[in-house]
Amino acid sequence: MEHLVIIGNGITGVTCARHVRKNSDMKITIISGESEHFFSRTALMYVYMGHMKWGNLKPYEDWFWKKNKIELVHAFVTSVDTDNKNVKLENGSTISYDKLVIATGSQTNKFGWPGQELQGVQGLYSMQDVELLEENTKDINHAVIVGGGLIGIELGEMLHTRNIQVTFLVRENFYWGNILPPEEASIVSRHIIEHGMDLKLNTQLKEILPDENGRVREIITDKGEEIPCQLVGLTPGVHPNIDLVKNTKIETGRGVLVNEYLETNIPDVYSAGDCAEIKSSIDGQRNKLEQLWYTGKMQGEVLAQNILGSKIKYDRGIWYNSAKFLDIEYQTYGFVANGSREGEESFYWEHHSGKKCLRIVYTSNKRNVIGFNVFGIRLRHKLCEKWIKEKRSIEYVMENLRDANFDPEFYTHHEEEVISKFNKENSKKNLVLK
Ligand SMILES: Cc1cc2nc3c(=O)[nH]c(=O)nc-3n(C[C@H](O)[C@H](O)[C@H](O)COP(=O)(O)OP(=O)(O)OC[C@H]3O[C@@H](n4cnc5c(N)ncnc54)[C@H](O)[C@@H]3O)c2cc1C
Repeated sequence: MEHLVIIGNGITGVTCARHVRKNSDMKITIISGESEHFFSRTALMYVYMGHMKWGNLKPYEDWFWKKNKIELVHAFVTSVDTDNKNVKLENGSTISYDKLVIATGSQTNKFGWPGQELQGVQGLYSMQDVELLEENTKDINHAVIVGGGLIGIELGEMLHTRNIQVTFLVRENFYWGNILPPEEASIVSRHIIEHGMDLKLNTQLKEILPDENGRVREIITDKGEEIPCQLVGLTPGVHPNIDLVKNTKIETGRGVLVNEYLETNIPDVYSAGDCAEIKSSIDGQRNKLEQLWYTGKMQGEVLAQNILGSKIKYDRGIWYNSAKFLDIEYQTYGFVANGSREGEESFYWEHHSGKKCLRIVYTSNKRNVIGFNVFGIRLRHKLCEKWIKEKRSIEYVMENLRDANFDPEFYTHHEEEVISKFNKENSKKNLVLK
């Protein structure tokens, strides 16, 4: 019987194993070092905040794996030998494979800052990071978070619930300004400040200084400002975790290089999820790194089919993402750049509270809608995607905006206000909501 070995029990590895099992009796082993069982990484913050217990993070009961004949090995793999088709574990034992999947996820970026290895300096990625955070935040009163992204804001919220004063150091003009247009980024920035957190924009970390016990005592910014703190949270993004394959025959770039079938350069070796770099088949187009939960899941599904002999290209389809900035929900569908781009226009509406907004991006020539950003209002994912796919015009979308609203009952609706702003800005239009 063929043996499929998967390194990494995150959403990618586990989805792949589940889908292989649905269609095949092949022997499946998942090896993972971080935890015995698969858990929801996206919900890690809720454990620290006391909303959930560790056990609540497990999407499957512990009996699931045995019932589905998926063997779990809780260990780190130390080397991969593709000539002899086996992997070595930290205890020295080896496991042979017929087919191998590398789904080793990401690691926190560290940019070689002086003091980045001091006690009290850490990232937020793994279960062990949350345990370390528990230790590192005992009796502390001030933390500095370096890097403004989706993990940074989660860390800020986590610390805030423990009454720890938070200072963010953000390189851009606004929080997450490298992704969000200035208006949306400014909503997030204001919201952070209103929650009592300190936000230092256009500011970078220069150095982290220790106390006499080797613990962080303060940081120094590139502007020479000294900020006393007992924790430094490093959240300036992540990179593919490819340590394991760096010295093997498996080709790597930024991640493990794979084609659109998620195959590496070595026969029977595949990679997917956060650690994979998908080579572009179009000349001049950049390879893709996709470091999201849902893309890991989709890649895991496609990979399972390819392992079983199909030839299915991975195609993510229309981009989407959602997140939460403290208590403001954010969704994005399609493509919304952080600044204006040639050939594109955008309509932007913001509620007077400064907590809700809607941006719709469309092409200048045909006025086809290509992207949505929405804060504080929920829009139906499937409908927005359909409109983008069907190349609906901005006018059509405006008139039908009500259909897209997905807010709970009794929430205030804003479509009238939105369309009236659109009509004002487009003087010849007199669109009416359907
Ligand atoms: C705090 C946080 C919040 C997030 N929130 C969101 C969100 O809201 N929405 C979203 O889309 N995405 C979110 N993400 C990103 C998302 O969690 C990741 O994209 C996803 O978990 C990646 O899945 P994966 O299976 O590719 O890798 P991982 O989940 O990283 O799993 C890989 C596993 O492989 C193990 N491993 C690595 N090397 C070895 C080795 N040598 N031997 C054995 N095991 C090994 C790792 O320890 C790890 O357990 C968040 C991430 C974090 C850290």
